[in-house]
Amino acid sequence: MTTSTQRRTALEAVRKACLLCQAVQAEWLRGGEATTKEDRSPVTVADYGAQAVISLSLARLEPRLPIVGEESAAALRRESASVTRAEVTRHVRALVPDASEAAILDAIDACADRGGASGRRWVLDPIDGTKGYLRRGQYAVALALLDEGTPTLGILGCPSLRSADGAREGSMFVAEGGQGAFEIGLEDAADADEVRIRVADLEDPAAAAFCESVETEHSAHDRHAAIAARLGVSAPPVRMDSQCKYGVVARGEAAIYLRLPRTESYREKIWDHAAGCLVVTEAGGRVTDVDGRELDFGQGRTLLGNRGIVATNGRLHDRVLAAIDQTAPQLVVQRGAR
Ligand code: AMP
Ligand code: MG
Repeated sequence: MTTSTQRRTALEAVRKACLLCQAVQAEWLRGGEATTKEDRSPVTVADYGAQAVISLSLARLEPRLPIVGEESAAALRRESASVTRAEVTRHVRALVPDASEAAILDAIDACADRGGASGRRWVLDPIDGTKGYLRRGQYAVALALLDEGTPTLGILGCPSLRSADGAREGSMFVAEGGQGAFEIGLEDAADADEVRIRVADLEDPAAAAFCESVETEHSAHDRHAAIAARLGVSAPPVRMDSQCKYGVVARGEAAIYLRLPRTESYREKIWDHAAGCLVVTEAGGRVTDVDGRELDFGQGRTLLGNRGIVATNGRLHDRVLAAIDQTAPQLVVQRGAR
């Protein structure tokens, strides 16, 4: 059960984190100092900053729940990171004025929960799609609430994603278990109407658009092409970084999102899928792994029991799984375990 306070606070926290990411990006595009600084800035500053803003916001909620977040502040605490630390602090304080540097570092480190099947916890990817962020493509701030390993609230902040009609830049997706999925403009007022979204009402795979990562290391594009060919999909893949892909499937722009693993050993991270998975399922779609198994978010920080991801509008799901069987049988472990 998600309370309205949790929902509102989480939505505002994600919105603020998106604003921070945009502010960091704007400075860097203006040729500000960030690019010349140490290590991976500006993505480092935005990554830490977004995690801090969300962690500080969630800490105000009762009960205070554990957070599984991607980042730790260990590197940021080092003497050599003083410039990055000052940048993170400056950007966080623009949104949370009363936060001290120490509180910001502690808030980042408060996201070290190991995950698991019991109790409730937040799952956070402060910037999903860092490559997209750097290349000024798509990225997402992704926050989910898990209850006994099941997502009950999922929020995706997609600052660079245009609305389906192209009129507006910056979208947020929000879904609650059993309540449907909604889209709202990133810059809309807090009381603005959320628009209910639905997956594509499509039964013919030939007419489907499918999406996949931009990064070839993150999934097997060659296998996706073989699956698409078997399904008769003629449109080229829509390549997009981050969980924005889930948003695009949820609002019916694409009907299939494929993420076939490139290696046997890789296990997907729960923060890369928890929010997006709920957004798609609440929009009427289906999300499983390549074997047709439900995603199990209760196994720790990774999806230990799953391999790869298949998200669809639901109606096409079994046909996509069958096409995977037919084109990449070596990926299908424990056949019959579905
Ligand atoms: P995407 O933008 O969809 O390509 O996904 C970005 C996410 O891919 C990052 O948040 C990483 O956690 C994740 N990632 C990193 N390496 C891999 C890999 N080998 N296979 C699948 N996902 C990966
Ligand atoms: Mg990620």
